[in-house]
Amino acid sequence: MKSSAQVVVIGGGVVGASVLYHLTELGWTDVVLVERRELTAGSTWHAAGGMHTLNGDPNVAKLQQYTVGLYREIEQRSGQNCGIHMSGGLTLAGDRERMDWLRMAQARGRYLGMDMEIISVAEAKQMFPLLEEQYFIGALFDRAEGHVDPTGVTRAYAGCARQAGAEIYQHTWVSDLRQRPDGTWDVITDSGEIHAEHIVNAGGLWAREVGRMIGLELPVLAMEHMYLITEDMAEVAEYNAATGHELPMGMDFDGELYIRQEGGGMLLGTYEQACVPWSPRETPWTFDQQLLAPDLDRIAPSLEIAFKHYPALAEAGIKTVVNGPFTFAPDGNPLVGPVPGVRNCWVACAVMAGFSQGGGVGLTLARWMVDGDPGEDIWAMDVARFGTWASLAYTNAKVRENYSRRFRITFPNEELPAGRPLHTTPVYDRLTAHNAVWGAGFGLEHPLWFQRPGSEPREDVTFRRSNAFPVVADECATVRERVGLTECSNFAKYRVTGAGSADWLQRLFTNRLPRPGRINLTAALDPGGHIVGEFSVARVGTDDFFLFGSQIAEAHHSRWFLGHLADGVRFDVLALSLVGLSLAGPGARDVLQSVTGASLATEDYPFMTFRRIDIGMIPAYVGRMTYTGDLGYEIWVAPEYQRALFDLLWQAGQPYGIGLFGFRALMSLRMEKMFGTWAREYRPIYTPVQARMHRSLKCDHDFIGRAAVEAELARGPARTLGYFDITPDPAEPADVVGDEPIWHDGAVVGWVTSGAYAHYSRRSLAFGYVPSELAVPGAMFEVEIIGQRRPARLLSEPVLDPAGHRMRA
Ligand SMILES: Cc1cc2nc3c(=O)[nH]c(=O)nc-3n(C[C@H](O)[C@H](O)[C@H](O)COP(=O)(O)OP(=O)(O)OC[C@H]3O[C@@H](n4cnc5c(N)ncnc54)[C@H](O)[C@@H]3O)c2cc1C
Repeated sequence: MKSSAQVVVIGGGVVGASVLYHLTELGWTDVVLVERRELTAGSTWHAAGGMHTLNGDPNVAKLQQYTVGLYREIEQRSGQNCGIHMSGGLTLAGDRERMDWLRMAQARGRYLGMDMEIISVAEAKQMFPLLEEQYFIGALFDRAEGHVDPTGVTRAYAGCARQAGAEIYQHTWVSDLRQRPDGTWDVITDSGEIHAEHIVNAGGLWAREVGRMIGLELPVLAMEHMYLITEDMAEVAEYNAATGHELPMGMDFDGELYIRQEGGGMLLGTYEQACVPWSPRETPWTFDQQLLAPDLDRIAPSLEIAFKHYPALAEAGIKTVVNGPFTFAPDGNPLVGPVPGVRNCWVACAVMAGFSQGGGVGLTLARWMVDGDPGEDIWAMDVARFGTWASLAYTNAKVRENYSRRFRITFPNEELPAGRPLHTTPVYDRLTAHNAVWGAGFGLEHPLWFQRPGSEPREDVTFRRSNAFPVVADECATVRERVGLTECSNFAKYRVTGAGSADWLQRLFTNRLPRPGRINLTAALDPGGHIVGEFSVARVGTDDFFLFGSQIAEAHHSRWFLGHLADGVRFDVLALSLVGLSLAGPGARDVLQSVTGASLATEDYPFMTFRRIDIGMIPAYVGRMTYTGDLGYEIWVAPEYQRALFDLLWQAGQPYGIGLFGFRALMSLRMEKMFGTWAREYRPIYTPVQARMHRSLKCDHDFIGRAAVEAELARGPARTLGYFDITPDPAEPADVVGDEPIWHDGAVVGWVTSGAYAHYSRRSLAFGYVPSELAVPGAMFEVEIIGQRRPARLLSEPVLDPAGHRMRA
């Protein structure tokens, strides 16, 4: 065994093997993989090997597409048979909502170049004669689906990596990990020690335990999962003889099951409601290549549906039942990337669909390690999307919810209930008393909208307009015509202090720093000029700053800042030690002025001022800005003051007709002001030039990414963020939810990033990226909303108050 290596990958399942392979592909060959038993000995060996490209997140779908396309190559290069069966796959819809979902998935697939087809039930029956037509209304057919041999694939990755110089040590258990002061690692195994620059936790069923070796509690949990294989069936033999190929795979949402041909019989797997976590606290190291006891009673409801939907199955004998554990993160997506706060430590775990996703996970992690950038949009898989709030018990609740909903639709306006409420601010009860409908982001509850008194605070889930629509319209009118109050604690807040802070931040930010007492907007870029984050920067002293950003990116952004920290600078994540309320609307100044001695007149407190003042008796930092684009203030206080602040403002606002508004109204208001948002318009795959962040981009100082920005400015961006005014279908109006394709001249040319109905302006608006040469003001496009192409005009300025008079008033 080597005593040192550049990378030690811990775990020889399909994911660890893929990481090893991709590292060697990118030229890192001093790499080793350590496996406690044999390759595949975790959850990999007993997988059903199914693979597909369909995923609710188009970026994950893209990586799945990459994975599926990789198998032929590694098979050829390694000489290891991967057992590839490209049978194609049907996703079957039993109702209108599911059909809508399939249409939307097909639409998203268009700009990813996926060849998916909506077909009728009769066509589905022809392709898959075992199904009973009466239970379905249509299907999506995807040619790029099939199944592989899990062991073959893992060995093929390993074989290719070995050819390139990687070494694999089987029957070698990593028992401890110790970091040296220089950030390198001593990997302690039962066969000796390896000194490594980087470690990768690809421990699969034991990823949690490997994390604990360095004091890390990863949000990952294994669930029991069952599939059964029937005896050979005459119907299958007949089909094979008649067509010359095997049956396609089937995903049956109503039955919460998947089905495919296995040999001469069928394989049927379920995601049952009565799901069971496996080893919820600790995975025993003694667990070997074992299966769990089958429990057919648990999957009986799914089997009952299966026998109705595919009657021939009811007559077939069951040959084998497999029950095995595999792992999930709380939202069902993998955990990939550098562990925040731990140098040279990477994870690639919680991969619940290793044969659809393993290749993409390996590729992006390897690029991240080698190039410092995953190279694809992997926001949905970044380990930094969870904070410390994702505890063991939270993970347990969320994973069970996710497993049992695997084949359920999660609507764009749906908030899932498990593990909530957990994180709340002091005004939670106050807002609940005002009939708040709650949502959660990065673990924290935030008000979405306020139901009318006497009605149940609940939102109907839908792809179209919900029961919130008229109420949110009223909230928007309150803000635009009088004054609205909302909670804004769901921003990420950071404090940067210490000698050298200004110099340090200036080097990270694209905009010049504001003067003390002022705020400005800025972006932070990676060396390639991609947007790492966008922030409001409030300066309170020479070397004293507050930064405000998107809360869901709190761990992602802190990882970036801490990774670049300069000597003498202190970077603190304020989390809920600072909470906020925001007043917005033409009456906002009058309300606030009535409770403070500080003059808020524009000449004394102009737009983008940030100061420490007292509101009543409450010490506060007050920024004159709001995301609504109206006259407004964000008021930041220590949590112990937030209730008093709420009561004070609410009382003071009564003569001015104050009303509460929530996140839904905020999204509507920001759309009519053409304000983009993090994770939608601004993501690490876009640049500030493409995103038209010109006002925050000043190439008059040295900042990370400047050279790339200048080069892009010189050659012109390939794509540009457009702002669209859409004409919805008058018969059944629906607005964009994000990821819809944008058509031009009969071809898909771009995609929507986000949008909303702008209630006050009565327009259905969207943002989306299109090729720059098409981004001409007034140009006509079409946006595909639930299978319908709707006309969309590209606008050049906000539909409301383009000169920004309101916020400067
Ligand atoms: C019944 C069933 C059916 C499935 N069907 C499908 C399917 O059809 N399609 C699909 O895509 N996915 C399927 N899966 C899921 C699939 O199995 C997983 O996504 C995949 O196996 C995850 O691989 P992994 O490499 O992350 O983890 P694992 O396979 O668990 O690999 C982790 C490896 O790390 C090793 N290890 C851990 N800790 C240490 C240590 N300290 N030292 C040394 N070695 C260590 C372990 O021994 C293990 O071999 C199924 C799972 C089950 C249970």
